[in-house]
Amino acid sequence: MKPTKTALDLHEFFPVALEIYDIVSDENQITIYMKSKSKECICPACGTISQKHHGTYHRRVQDLPIFGKSFWLDINAYEYQCENPDCLNMSNVETFQGFLQYRRRMTDRCAFFICALALETSCETTADICNAMGVQVSGDTVIRMLLSRAEDCPAEVVGDLVGVDDFANKKGRTYCTVLVNGESHRIIDIFEGRDSDTLKAWLQENRHVHRFTSDRASSYAKAIA
Ligand SMILES: [Zn+2]
Repeated sequence: MKPTKTALDLHEFFPVALEIYDIVSDENQITIYMKSKSKECICPACGTISQKHHGTYHRRVQDLPIFGKSFWLDINAYEYQCENPDCLNMSNVETFQGFLQYRRRMTDRCAFFICALALETSCETTADICNAMGVQVSGDTVIRMLLSRAEDCPAEVVGDLVGVDDFANKKGRTYCTVLVNGESHRIIDIFEGRDSDTLKAWLQENRHVHRFTSDRASSYAKAIA
């Protein structure tokens, strides 16, 4: 008879530098306690690899919910001192590339899910769905996450086909306009407001754009015309 797997190795779902040392589960949430076992850190300012621990720092961050429960990570990580005497960067807090960024309160996969959902619905609906699933996030935070994501992304090529749409925050009281590359569906730009003047200013700098797709063409029809 074929052996059947009955357990998961949770370490497979986290960066190798993080070691799990405790798991606490109650009625509503699961918390995994982890500590960093890293020995070095690359200084983001000068690229020097440092091995000098400067201190520790503690973070409590959200991850995607599992088994219908909120999922939290309680992480103890290191601060490193840059060993380059000419570098102005005194201390570097450890980040986990592709998993958890500096000062973020949730994992990258959790943030990615929220942003993807917001682009399909609205910021307020996203917050409602997330709260029902056990992810604590407000509509205002969703809008900030989208704006910061657009700033962090490398500039997307603006082809001649552009998708334009709006998304709402605060139950329709605040709107943002999102522009996506019509071929790759990646975000080109996001700006606050959805009036045709804002879009018109952008179009004047991108005169090669000749084709548009939009679910709500009427809000932008004047600018496009
Ligand atoms: Zn440095």
